[in-house]
Amino acid sequence: MSQGRLEELRNQLDEVNLELLGLLSKRARIAQELGAEKEKQGVPKFDPVREKEMLEKLVASNEGPFEHETVRHLFKQIFQATLTLQQVDHKKHLLVSRKKKQEDTLISLGDVTIGGGSPIMIAGPCSVESYEQVRTVAAALKEAGITVMRGGAFKPRTSPYDFQGLGIEGLKILKEVAAEFGLKTISEIVDPAHIELACDYIDVIQIGARNMQNFELLKAAGDVKTPILLKRGLAATLDEFVHAAEYIVSRGNTQVMLIERGIRTYEKATRNTLDISAVPILKQETHLPVLVDVTHSTGRKDILAPCAKAALAAGADGVMVEVHPDPATALSDAAQQLNIPQFHDFYAEVKKSGLM
Ligand code: PEP
Ligand code: MN
Repeated sequence: MSQGRLEELRNQLDEVNLELLGLLSKRARIAQELGAEKEKQGVPKFDPVREKEMLEKLVASNEGPFEHETVRHLFKQIFQATLTLQQVDHKKHLLVSRKKKQEDTLISLGDVTIGGGSPIMIAGPCSVESYEQVRTVAAALKEAGITVMRGGAFKPRTSPYDFQGLGIEGLKILKEVAAEFGLKTISEIVDPAHIELACDYIDVIQIGARNMQNFELLKAAGDVKTPILLKRGLAATLDEFVHAAEYIVSRGNTQVMLIERGIRTYEKATRNTLDISAVPILKQETHLPVLVDVTHSTGRKDILAPCAKAALAAGADGVMVEVHPDPATALSDAAQQLNIPQFHDFYAEVKKSGLM
């Protein structure tokens, strides 16, 4: 073959490549339009029956030189790339996404603002056990300048034989003690039927890790105006976490905060593995406040301060930590709760870093 002929064929290939690219782009734009229409109508983007039909039509028209299998393979790749494109478009349209709303969402609890650039320390017992227990912690927190107290009244325990929490009675204790000390409160709700009722007792409703994908609970949380603190699931990806938050926001409750609380890995040195990288990723991808629960993520008291500092350095809007007047006798999470002097030391060390 002469050098001239080679050159000519190469030029032809280059031209066909450009034509193919033009056609692929055209196809992608049509598919994007189709995807947007499907989104409007609420029908799924991926339609396996339609994909099979398209492949069959193509194979029926295939006159070679490619084998039918090769044609199928090539077009499946094209279909997959188009679907990925539609999924990226879909993500940009999530209500919680930073692309949808640039400004940070701020959560106002009276005079307290979460997400406004000055990080918050949230502390309190794992469980509400008694009026006296909560009152003792509240007095210490107030003295330390803490404004938001946590305390579980409905406890989702691994064993049904473990302390399940005081229920509504616990919420009443929180309300009474919070009123006395002028504190705001956070408590977990596990039953969609309790969401409305909880709004009368607490300032923030926590949805726990075990319930991150309890979609009926998320929907109920989306139907009220009370701020929601959504914990990351035990083995949830960030994508699943973000979509769980979307469930709440899509129902009308825009007051949502995310909290990283550690995920399951093979590591045994800590109770869970604190995923610090979740903080900047969630801050970048969503406009919601992002907090870090240092207690449940680590499950050990000796590394709480460095982990809290790491969280704040990574951009967290706040830290949550468990405090109990007498951790040894606590009805839940006895091993990981700080006593009051330990909390004071922890808080002082975190503040000393200048990160809060
Ligand atoms: C809690 O914060 O009380 C709790 C049970 O944590 P998690 O849902 O993260 O396990
Ligand atoms: Mn706990």
